[in-house]
Amino acid sequence: KFNFSAGPAALPQPVLKRAQAELLDWNGQGTSVMEVSHRGKPFMAVAEKAERDLRDIMHIPDNYKVLFLQGGGRGQFFSVPMNLAQRGDLSQHLVSGQWSQIAVAEAEKYMSAEVVAKTQTRDNMLWVPNQEHWDINPEAAYFHYCPNETVDGIEINWVPKSQDVPIVADMSSNILSKAIDVSDYGIIYAGAQKNIGPSGLAVVIIRDDLLGFARKDTPAVFDYQQQVNNDSMYNTPPTFSWYLAGLVFEWLKEQGGVQAIEKINTQKAKLLYSCIDASDFYGNKIDPSNRSKMNVTFQLADSSLDSLFLEKAEEAGLVALKGHRFVGGMRASIYNAMPLEGVEALVSFMQEFERTNA
Ligand code: PLP
Repeated sequence: KFNFSAGPAALPQPVLKRAQAELLDWNGQGTSVMEVSHRGKPFMAVAEKAERDLRDIMHIPDNYKVLFLQGGGRGQFFSVPMNLAQRGDLSQHLVSGQWSQIAVAEAEKYMSAEVVAKTQTRDNMLWVPNQEHWDINPEAAYFHYCPNETVDGIEINWVPKSQDVPIVADMSSNILSKAIDVSDYGIIYAGAQKNIGPSGLAVVIIRDDLLGFARKDTPAVFDYQQQVNNDSMYNTPPTFSWYLAGLVFEWLKEQGGVQAIEKINTQKAKLLYSCIDASDFYGNKIDPSNRSKMNVTFQLADSSLDSLFLEKAEEAGLVALKGHRFVGGMRASIYNAMPLEGVEALVSFMQEFERTNA
């Protein structure tokens, strides 16, 4: 089966096989990795290697800390404003879809959250206005945006710039999918369940001069400085998720890192969008410059065929293609773990479905 779920999403098969082989007897310990102390040497080695590999893969500069925390992506929606509150009481936001909108609602609980721009309709397509159309207030404590909107299928391929204001990016659904320059950002965070590992884990990459600005009432487990001081082990970390994330990072390195996976991701997305564009039977409403390479949303011109499409797709082993309930239609999530063959199989199925139902 090919799993097109938006998340929790498919993990690389070799990673799952390795985890399966090691499940009952990990590292010659006679127990699973879930049962060993997070403070013992064997697990500490796993934790440190995972961080080292992530640093290598993303070329994370030395003045950035890497945290492995609990609470997923949404946990960061409040952790960011709580941890930056002493830098000021204004956050600014680009709202490009569902997730960045929810981040505003959470930030509003802790500071005044201002939306500088939103996705617009341009030539009947959804388009995210770039920075020529808005400004970042130099007084803001931070600027937040979501470079890949999982629900809407919108990706932003430029980075907001400001001399004074740290850029905070929710990369939950496109982290590790392509090369980026970490130094463009103050904070990068991601819920793990797309390109990293199991849900519940969040990876936070934070420039060290942004530590120490937390509100006094920030719970200790969500206080970045506390977690930095404790190597992400202030409380018992999600050890199994951390271990699996480490296996995913090793797998990604074996594939040739983000440069190599970016090429494959580009190829997969091109193939699928070309199929959608080639016919009037399928459609996509996103401006080509903002089409996501990770979450490809599309509609059938005749939506009465939606349930038949999903039924037949499932019979063909192509699962979880239903679009998010807010958007409708279809969504194929094609994260790093989705092989090119999965997209080829989907495209063949779509062409055949069109031939028999148009
Ligand atoms: N941000 C983005 C872009 C997401 O796609 C998601 C979940 O899919 C979240 C945040 C929320 O993550 P979580 O469900 O781990 O809290």
